[in-house]
Amino acid sequence: MSEIMIIGGGAAGMMCAIAAADAGHQVTLLEKNEKLGKKVFITGKGRCNITNDSDVENLLQHTMRNPRFLYSAFYTFDSSRMMEFLTEEGLKIKTERGNRVFPQSDHSSDVIRTLERAMKKRGVTICLNTTVTDILVTDGQCRGVEVKDASGRKKELVADAVVTATGGVSYASTGSTGDGLRFAGKLGHKVTDVMPSLVPFEIREDFCRQMQGLSLKNVSLKLTKGRKILYEELGEMIFTHFGISGPLVLTASCYYTKPEDDLTVHLDLKPALSEKQLDERILRDFGANKNSYFKNSLNKLLPSKMIPVIVELSGIAPDKPVNEVTKEERRKLVALLKNVEMHISGLRGFSEAIVTRGGVSVKDVDPGTMESKKVRGLYFAGEVLDLDAVTGGYNLQIAWSTGYLAGISIQ
Ligand SMILES: Cc1cc2nc3c(=O)[nH]c(=O)nc-3n(C[C@H](O)[C@H](O)[C@H](O)COP(=O)(O)OP(=O)(O)OC[C@H]3O[C@@H](n4cnc5c(N)ncnc54)[C@H](O)[C@@H]3O)c2cc1C
Repeated sequence: MSEIMIIGGGAAGMMCAIAAADAGHQVTLLEKNEKLGKKVFITGKGRCNITNDSDVENLLQHTMRNPRFLYSAFYTFDSSRMMEFLTEEGLKIKTERGNRVFPQSDHSSDVIRTLERAMKKRGVTICLNTTVTDILVTDGQCRGVEVKDASGRKKELVADAVVTATGGVSYASTGSTGDGLRFAGKLGHKVTDVMPSLVPFEIREDFCRQMQGLSLKNVSLKLTKGRKILYEELGEMIFTHFGISGPLVLTASCYYTKPEDDLTVHLDLKPALSEKQLDERILRDFGANKNSYFKNSLNKLLPSKMIPVIVELSGIAPDKPVNEVTKEERRKLVALLKNVEMHISGLRGFSEAIVTRGGVSVKDVDPGTMESKKVRGLYFAGEVLDLDAVTGGYNLQIAWSTGYLAGISIQ
């Protein structure tokens, strides 16, 4: 039996504690907040999309960075194991569209409560209001942590193994302030550059602000770098005061390369119609309102907030009677509706990012155990690692799987 300290009472830390306690170890969980799972609490808009009920191949396919590193973790503890575990611990779950798994109550707090109960049942010592300030290492062997309690008193806690499950750097208010990345860097691990992911885009064109609050369904969004298509999908998005957001945009942000690259978003407002069909549709609308001005002719085709923007971008005089709009003007209008271009000026910040891209390099961690290759007895789990996935329960599954694997691997 070993004495194990786990840094971070988030998704990965709690699952690691449970697995390590089941493996017969003496486990202490150190969490700097006054309660466990502050980030888990806000997941899935407070409903917690726990995992994705799909096979390992699918989990790997939806992992953006370093999926191969996750082979062992996913095959050891996949989404079905997670669902089984929660059910055995008394949590009722349900699966929704896209295989997204939620607690039946729609309350993330029930997931946290279940994990907390499971830890207590297994004798895990939970220390809240306890910030780890350093990881102690002697001769390449981890020997414990230095902590600071709520009153600011520092002390050393001796351990046979330490697990860093401190999360990334997004939504820092939940406690993920990058401490684990600093500890890892100081101990000789490579830490890849971090950037926000699953995050809205800031757009150069001012028309987004004009359409602020307008959400679109069944549109097609394409992200390109020069001629290269980085991402293309049908779905929903919303215009904001700074640019664009919504499910399509958040997923597209996973494919964002770097600020220097001139990335463009192309929006097809009528993906179900070919250019020819759209032209016929416009002609019909024009025909029904022969004497109306162009600016008043798009009501059936577009949401009202969008009409002034499209009218301006089309270059057709707003007060032109529709029966005077030329074929060439109509051709340009069709092309515009099939391709509204927006240039990305940047990503929103970490405070709005669902997940952190980058982190402790997986090259410095053993994928079969989650143990550091630099320091014996030091393990990593969860978002602190250079791993991230798209939305759909995949990021939490990374935390559960890596936490579990670390927990059972400690000698
Ligand atoms: C708004 C939002 C919604 C999301 N929704 C979903 C979703 O529905 N499904 C999904 O799969 N993913 C979702 N995610 C992503 C998911 O929440 C994270 O990927 C996951 O929580 C990462 O787990 P983790 O344990 O690695 O880190 P965290 O859950 O961030 O936990 C890290 C913990 O470590 C603690 N800590 C940090 N430093 C120290 C220290 N020095 N000493 C002591 N404790 C420390 C922190 O306080 C924190 O509690 C969402 C994220 C956000 C921000």
